[in-house]
Amino acid sequence: MARKTNGDLYNLKPSSIMVYGAVWCPDCKRAKQFFGEQCVQYNNVDIDEDPKGIAFVETINDGKRIIPTIIFPDGEILVEPSNAQLAQKLGLKTSAQRSYYDTIVIGGGPAGLTSALYLAREGLDVLVIERAGLGGQAGITQTLDNFPGFDEGNLRWRICRASWTPGAQVRRGNFTGAGSPCD
Ligand SMILES: Cc1cc2nc3c(=O)[nH]c(=O)nc-3n(C[C@H](O)[C@H](O)[C@H](O)COP(=O)(O)OP(=O)(O)OC[C@H]3O[C@@H](n4cnc5c(N)ncnc54)[C@H](O)[C@@H]3O)c2cc1C
Repeated sequence: MARKTNGDLYNLKPSSIMVYGAVWCPDCKRAKQFFGEQCVQYNNVDIDEDPKGIAFVETINDGKRIIPTIIFPDGEILVEPSNAQLAQKLGLKTSAQRSYYDTIVIGGGPAGLTSALYLAREGLDVLVIERAGLGGQAGITQTLDNFPGFDEGNLRWRICRASWTPGAQVRRGNFTGAGSPCD
């Protein structure tokens, strides 16, 4: 999480993403979890502990106290956004480029990404669908030990970099097992 600077508080054009919310608010937790999974830095303002924060949120929302109210550095404000809206705002790729792939891999953890890497190396067109952050469980740990092929360090970025093989595409989404994942 980024360091909060006074200049960013109550600012309609902060230098980093500002999340105005409260600890009891499930939509605030969901939005912050989404940012965390995508490794996106944000500043959290708990309006329950900040009367000026409450007033700021009410000013933005025509007198209503709606949270999360999220302000982006470009000045855009999203109020109670869905994960799909957040994904769009962050520019995540959520739709497939093609209507046909040789192989679709569900899950962008180490198993899914390495499968996609080797399938693409064999010349197959591969689509990876990941509902959260790339890297799976390995992506949420600071340091990996005893992982085959990696002596140390953050696996997420190394394996993601390796999987940018021509022929492999990674898209964010939740595969439910029904219908076309390319819809
Ligand atoms: C804190 C922590 C530390 C660890 N440290 C080490 C270590 O030091 N050394 C080591 O060898 N191992 C370590 N591990 C274990 C290692 O991370 C796992 O063995 C490895 O991540 C398993 O990879 P996987 O691809 O099989 O599954 P996962 O990593 O679980 O990946 C599965 C992916 O599929 C996605 N997914 C699931 N369902 C859907 C769906 N329906 N639609 C779309 N996407 C879906 C999930 O979001 C996830 O990203 C650690 C794990 C944790 C949690």
